[in-house]
Amino acid sequence: MSAAFSRRVDAALADPILKLAIDRTAGTAEAKRALAVDGFAHFEQARTRAAAIKDHVVAHLGHYLEHFEASATAAGAQVHYARTADEACAIVIGICKAAGARTVARSKSMLGEEIGLPHALAEAGIGRIETDLAEHIIQLADERPSHIVWPAMHKTREQVSALFKQHHTAPHTEETIPAMAESARRHLRQGMLGADVGISGANFLIADSGAVCTVTNEGNAELSLVPPRVHIVTAGIEKLVPSMGHAAQLLRLLARSATGATLTQYTTFYTGPKRAADPDGPEAMHIVLIDNGRVKMRDEGLAEMLRCIRCGACMNHCVVFRQIGGHAYGGTYPGPMGAVLTPALDGLAASRDLPNACTLNGKCQEVCPVKIPLPTLLRGWREKSWREGLEPATMRQGIGAWAWVAQRPRLYRAAVRAAIFAMRRFGRGWIRALPLARGWTAHRDLPAPDAESFMSRYARGER
Ligand code: SF4
Repeated sequence: MSAAFSRRVDAALADPILKLAIDRTAGTAEAKRALAVDGFAHFEQARTRAAAIKDHVVAHLGHYLEHFEASATAAGAQVHYARTADEACAIVIGICKAAGARTVARSKSMLGEEIGLPHALAEAGIGRIETDLAEHIIQLADERPSHIVWPAMHKTREQVSALFKQHHTAPHTEETIPAMAESARRHLRQGMLGADVGISGANFLIADSGAVCTVTNEGNAELSLVPPRVHIVTAGIEKLVPSMGHAAQLLRLLARSATGATLTQYTTFYTGPKRAADPDGPEAMHIVLIDNGRVKMRDEGLAEMLRCIRCGACMNHCVVFRQIGGHAYGGTYPGPMGAVLTPALDGLAASRDLPNACTLNGKCQEVCPVKIPLPTLLRGWREKSWREGLEPATMRQGIGAWAWVAQRPRLYRAAVRAAIFAMRRFGRGWIRALPLARGWTAHRDLPAPDAESFMSRYARGER
């Protein structure tokens, strides 16, 4: 484990408030999802269909990109393509500057975090108002999101209350959630109505109509995208679906998997800018379609990861995430999906700890609404890391020595007998420290092994 990852994990494990905050949110989500899935008679068939829809689009990406561009252009939007995060940010900043924007209202988008848009806007001197309640909390705290659905899940309501009192002009006086929500509403509404540009992500891009779909539970996307003069959408190219019907099939799975709700409170389809007869809406709509490594992922064995609809179920059910939270992962995307995506986005050398931090218990794959084989993809990263020699020399030598012994059955059996003897002799019931495995025993004791190994019992015919 790298020193940086180890430090982040140790800090997370030593933080009792973090664990409380994660359990409050992820624990509730886990229970609600289970109820929602129980009440959905054809959940398995829906998952299979959803995976097939996403696989089809990813296999025919060029076709659906052209189709979407033609439909969106016909509806009056302008479509831009960005190969990299820097290109995407440059396009967005260019549009903002051309519109004379001093302030933008942003509706939550993990892609915006992925491409570093908040930073790019700050560098360009453009003010930013995060309108999603959790993103607003993150902005006030000057932190990064720790979950893709609940970016502020690491904060307790007591911490949020203190932040609002520090930053809001007319904060709540009652320590209740409705009073705190009202304080945020008062604060954010002014910013949303005064913004020059609204920036959103997209949950789905509908190829046959050129519509962009966003889902929120607060209505902040609608309020931050309709009043400004310009609406900019930043979306990964994997968000395409052929038609509204296909989007509807995925929407049925998205909310259930994320929060256990049947549908999010607000599901909106934006098709082009304001038309002549429309009472309101932006004068211009720009859609920035971003690759940022997605085509490479498709072509290099990670196509299944492009099915992801960002529901967060994999992290809510992950035993590792539930202990250490999102920040310890170090990348934009945490949890099991982040452990697959981060090496693709940031490079394997910088993030090889993440695939190795997985227990491979398979729970993430079991709950993923689009059946992404996350453990298999994580094992793929581990193999690549080994092939490329990224593991520390001590680990390579240790595993090399073990492999050498394991290929010599007599020697292997003798070594196992010697190890059992030593562990029983010195462990006295429980083993509290092991040479060469201190990282393991630092956090847990192991029971001393039985006197006889499973293989020798099996050889004797014991069943
Ligand atoms: S990998 Fe699956 S479970 Fe995890 S966020 Fe993506 S769609 Fe949801």
